Amino acid sequence: MVDPVRLLEQKGLKITPQRCAILNFLQQTTGHPTADQVAEYLNRDLPMTSRATVYNTLNTLRDVGLISEVTHEPGVLRYDANIGRHHHFICKTCGRLDDLDWEMFGKLPVEQITSQYGRVDQVEVIVRGICRECQPD
Ligand SMILES: [Zn+2]
Ligand SMILES: [Zn+2]
Repeated sequence: MVDPVRLLEQKGLKITPQRCAILNFLQQTTGHPTADQVAEYLNRDLPMTSRATVYNTLNTLRDVGLISEVTHEPGVLRYDANIGRHHHFICKTCGRLDDLDWEMFGKLPVEQITSQYGRVDQVEVIVRGICRECQPD
């Protein structure tokens, strides 16, 4: 895990308690929280933080590439501090979203897609299923 202060410095962003706290929270969770969940967490640490500040901060961090948005479910926007290439597993029952290692799918046919369909900007495999906790024993 990289120190949030260093990450912000690398991107030339001002160091604010909100930015540090949000980065820190996202780095520590693998649960891909929504903006509301981020705001809820932050209010325990920094009770004076408005929702608008949280949304603005998330947008700023996204714009410089320190976090990414995950938009696999309609109307749900989640945030991910894992900005390395990876895939996702989504549970249809509880909505839980887990990271899958990039290597799991071997070599993806990017060249073939490029020649057949056009330029590829991003590739990600979304696996939908039912997580172990939601499966009946
Ligand atoms: Zn589940
Ligand atoms: Zn992820």
